[in-house]
Amino acid sequence: MTIVRDSFYINGEWVKASSPDTLEVTTSGTGELYATVPAGTVEEANSAVEAAAGAFTAWSNTSPKERGEFLMRISEKLAERDDELALIIANEVGMPLMLSKGIQVGLPTMAFAENATRAAEYEWEEESGNSTYVREPVGVVAAITPWNYPLYQVSLKVAAALAAGCTVVLKPSEVAPINAFILADIIDEVGLPKGVFNLVTGLGPVVGEAIVVHPKTDMVSFTGSTRAGKRVMQLASEMVKRVSLELGGKSANVILEDADISAAVADGIFQCYLNSGQTCSALTRMVVPRSKLAEVEDIAVATSAGFAPSDPITGSSLLGPLVSAVQQQRVRDYINKGIDEGARLITGGTTPPEGLEKGYYVQPTIFSDVRTDMTIAQEEIFGPVLSIIPYDTEEEAIAIANDSAYGLAGGVWAGTDEKAFEVARKIRTGQLAINGGAFNPLAPFGGYKQSGIGRERGLFGFEEFLEVKAIQHN
Ligand code: NAD
Repeated sequence: MTIVRDSFYINGEWVKASSPDTLEVTTSGTGELYATVPAGTVEEANSAVEAAAGAFTAWSNTSPKERGEFLMRISEKLAERDDELALIIANEVGMPLMLSKGIQVGLPTMAFAENATRAAEYEWEEESGNSTYVREPVGVVAAITPWNYPLYQVSLKVAAALAAGCTVVLKPSEVAPINAFILADIIDEVGLPKGVFNLVTGLGPVVGEAIVVHPKTDMVSFTGSTRAGKRVMQLASEMVKRVSLELGGKSANVILEDADISAAVADGIFQCYLNSGQTCSALTRMVVPRSKLAEVEDIAVATSAGFAPSDPITGSSLLGPLVSAVQQQRVRDYINKGIDEGARLITGGTTPPEGLEKGYYVQPTIFSDVRTDMTIAQEEIFGPVLSIIPYDTEEEAIAIANDSAYGLAGGVWAGTDEKAFEVARKIRTGQLAINGGAFNPLAPFGGYKQSGIGRERGLFGFEEFLEVKAIQHN
């Protein structure tokens, strides 16, 4: 049965959409209609910002402990509904259910809990010389999010902003919005004061731009494509609003000669294919010693064979479909481009995986002999497509890793952690994992270069939503 949501959450109430226009959400695994949500108008976006502005003074004056208590209740209710949310996101995005629960629901649940604790424990003031430095919330935050880790990206903004004392207007991705409606239901249930959190769905150029340009919006926290991020930054510059941008990536996994090649390649494939390659920090370029190229290719093809896609709800594979027909076509076009530009296809391709003609599946695909000037080595594909790039010297490997407009994440594999550290310091990205170092949900996440501005997660992510005031005294 199709899920129908027909209202926005504005000023503590569900308000019926004024326009009959709706946006359709499809089930990634089958291509069938999954849900419809209302397409918001500029007026509705404006009234959400007005509500957030109206609620700001009171909310910013609540005690951090009280704000933390609200956030903890939200976290608890997310945990109670984790099965339901995992299923929704597996349908909307296509991440296999067995991964979706821990990643797509567990991480946001943790983000709310973590910010609850942080609000209560944070040192809001410090003395320095004849000054008191006071941290204050930045104000009304416009939060605009993408579809690939939809609830997690929402939570990184909403939980940190609310903890800081900001009020929020959220415009989630129109491609995977149902999880955000569940969050709004939960926020309503816990009785967050009116106007502190508002939700309006709609198209980026309509609702997104309206909440960015509204004079009462103080900050825009955007996650999405570099293309849309640039537009948001241009619009926000008119009123010199604070902007934080989490954008695209084309991250390199540098494997040195003396690394454990089997472990490095197998892990690298997983880091590329997670969420069907629809991860901004995916390690999509594997930079390998030319002398080991044949060995790397053999391991990569064998590992990739273990990722034959299956239905995200009923299947057992770690690889599901892509999110939409548009993304599926985009990824196929990149695979054709790789072939046209002379990269060597060693597994996968543009034909649908056998038996999965419905839904938005793409075979896991690997190119070898990729040169760094090829399109598939430079542009974000956002699909399960790996480029293996050979190098001759360590300096060349580092230069290849840095030869990108992006700088979001990366990996380094070497015989020792010391060596891997040394190389990691030379790569210009916001995150790196050496020798398979585990994901840390508290570590700051964000990009150098065109991957963005600012950081999310943990203490750094929280402080993005604060202003600093210096008060001089005698
Ligand atoms: P997108 O840019 O198309 O959309 C992201 C959001 O921006 C959506 O809510 C969309 O409606 C809105 N939007 C679009 N145009 C807008 C405009 N003119 N003004 C205001 N809002 C607008 O991106 P997407 O396809 O949803 O997501 C995929 C992209 O997100 C990839 O490039 C990926 O790398 C990036 N991403 C980055 C991170 C990160 O943390 N760096 C995390 C996840 C995804």
